[in-house]
Amino acid sequence: MTGSIYAVRNVWKQVVPDNQWFTYRIVVQGKTVRTYINDMLASDYTEPSELWRPDGWQGRRLNDEGGTFAFQCHDPGSKVAYKNIKVKPLSDDLTSPGTPPDDLVFEEQIVRLATDNFPLVDLHTHLKGGMTEDEALDQARKYGYTYGIAVNCGLKMGFESDEELNTFLDSYEASPFTWFAMQAEGREWLELFSPESRERFDYVFTDAMTWTKDNGLRMRTWIKEETEVGDPQVFMEQLVDRIVTIVTTEPIDIYVNPTFLPDEINDQYDELWTDERIDRVVAALKESGVALEINNGRKIPSPAFLKKAKAAGLKFTFGTNNVTAESLGRMDYSIRMIGELGLEPGDMWLPGK
Ligand SMILES: [Zn+2]
Repeated sequence: MTGSIYAVRNVWKQVVPDNQWFTYRIVVQGKTVRTYINDMLASDYTEPSELWRPDGWQGRRLNDEGGTFAFQCHDPGSKVAYKNIKVKPLSDDLTSPGTPPDDLVFEEQIVRLATDNFPLVDLHTHLKGGMTEDEALDQARKYGYTYGIAVNCGLKMGFESDEELNTFLDSYEASPFTWFAMQAEGREWLELFSPESRERFDYVFTDAMTWTKDNGLRMRTWIKEETEVGDPQVFMEQLVDRIVTIVTTEPIDIYVNPTFLPDEINDQYDELWTDERIDRVVAALKESGVALEINNGRKIPSPAFLKKAKAAGLKFTFGTNNVTAESLGRMDYSIRMIGELGLEPGDMWLPGK
């Protein structure tokens, strides 16, 4: 999208709607390239001293002998208009204001995926633990990621009513560089929030961490004190039943924190998530057209689960579910799964597609 340093640091969200003028500034100072749309920093990249580019893309680098620039209209039939074009040559000996990538092995993976047009999109981030939107955008630009920022909505989980939520939404202006998501929580959310509230978001996701057992016990499976796992086999049967109901009846786009198990049985993850249970969840996701999150924070689902999901033709998203700026991380598990599963760009779910 506009604002990208294409095949190096891509922007995945359209920042300005079609048929609207916008300003586009590109600054190259030393080894730092920055792009600005309507004076907002879109991409920020500094070439490392050891520069890696894929075969056929060796020219994608700053050239010490000087270069040129061009205007591009990318696809046949599309139209682009330009006006008020200005160029200002800068001195060659300016220092680079930006910071080059620190991990060159990871940088190679990022550039390879950017070249393959693989959507490096984290749709499950939170402004939690004091993290600001600016810090999230810094991290996004560092790796060429685009984030979806989610707010929690549900009984005892954050916003608890349409009124509370709408008061917040009326005063909140999301960055045009991020998507904005509703994290619907607890099974009561459908009664708490109207379809009109849901539609104020770019997408909606939920998990199966809050549900009620057959014996009436309310499970909030990430809070140990409120969790009574009991017989793991019974727990699993009821959990899988609930997941199937959730993804086939609730109006959601993505099932997140998937396959999460409470700590006391998580060491049995591979035995408890049997082929049969995996197949039931995968079939429900397939039937309902709900995408499956690959969660970086907890490294779930397991590769075995994901292989079955891929074979069934499910769509995937990446999500971190950070609780601080530090835990936002760099999507290591998702990026590892791209390679391990052989994911292609078309396997990924994106908002508005
Ligand atoms: Zn979350």
